[in-house]
Amino acid sequence: MKEDRKMNNPAQWVETIIKGFINRSPENTLKNTANDKAWADPLVGFSRGDDPIFQAYKEHVGPFHWTPLEVFNLTFPQFRVEADQLTVISWILPQTEKTKSDLRKETVYPSESWARARIFGEEVNVKLRQHAVATLQASGIEAAAPMLSPSWERKTSERYGFASTWSERHAAYASGLGTFGLCDGLITPRGKAMRCGSVVAHMQISPTARPYQDHQAYCVFFSQGICGRCIQRCPADAITKSGHDKIKCKSYVDVTRNYVTTHFGFEGYGCGFCQTGVPCESRIPEKQE
Ligand code: SF4
Ligand code: SF4
Repeated sequence: MKEDRKMNNPAQWVETIIKGFINRSPENTLKNTANDKAWADPLVGFSRGDDPIFQAYKEHVGPFHWTPLEVFNLTFPQFRVEADQLTVISWILPQTEKTKSDLRKETVYPSESWARARIFGEEVNVKLRQHAVATLQASGIEAAAPMLSPSWERKTSERYGFASTWSERHAAYASGLGTFGLCDGLITPRGKAMRCGSVVAHMQISPTARPYQDHQAYCVFFSQGICGRCIQRCPADAITKSGHDKIKCKSYVDVTRNYVTTHFGFEGYGCGFCQTGVPCESRIPEKQE
């Protein structure tokens, strides 16, 4: 049965692996006393390993940004594959309604659930990457999670400042899952309050359509010149009509560390005010908003 699904509908098979882990595994937890789930039902998208967009990222982000083939070759130097034999599997992990609601009420420091999602939720995301890789490999499909590669590293982009050798949001954009907002977050059909992940696999799956013409299509500030609610929500003045100041943002996120440790009793941090209490929080905003 599993073999049938894998052969006949590999997209559905992979989606079941990802959704099954998030929706049914006890690993999906904020590790609080209520044992709340870290993430709601995921979205999954696919892009081709030879999609020219990954080459374009080298020009936009920096020459250090990997193509799927580069990730694969770094992980499996013993194999020879062509880029068109690879698929990028990308997923969106939406914040739960409770976590979003908790942060909506705050204006300066993160709520406990939001900070837990940033730390323990990302641990879930790491486990999901490992689970997806292990499940594919157990079926004879070589797979690698770029973010878990020992070669992954932070870089400085001439155009964008803080960057890295693989961007989960760019993989999600390539895989039809959303476009960038004024604050740099990715606006997806489940909104911008989310985290994302990806795996590069030696298998061919039809790519998910990109239902947008440009990389900022879903943000109504760019499409209509309206909104800008994320500017008002940012406690660090890190968002203006000119965009997102990553240095100011990072400095503010660092300031939250002490607050999280003293108020919630674990080492963490978090902000994300630009992701909640805004029209793109949980969906693609309507044009008239
Ligand atoms: S809050 Fe408004 S301006 Fe900011 S990213 Fe969302 S849609 Fe764009
Ligand atoms: S994460 Fe926080 S500091 Fe950074 S842009 Fe968003 S609201 Fe501002």
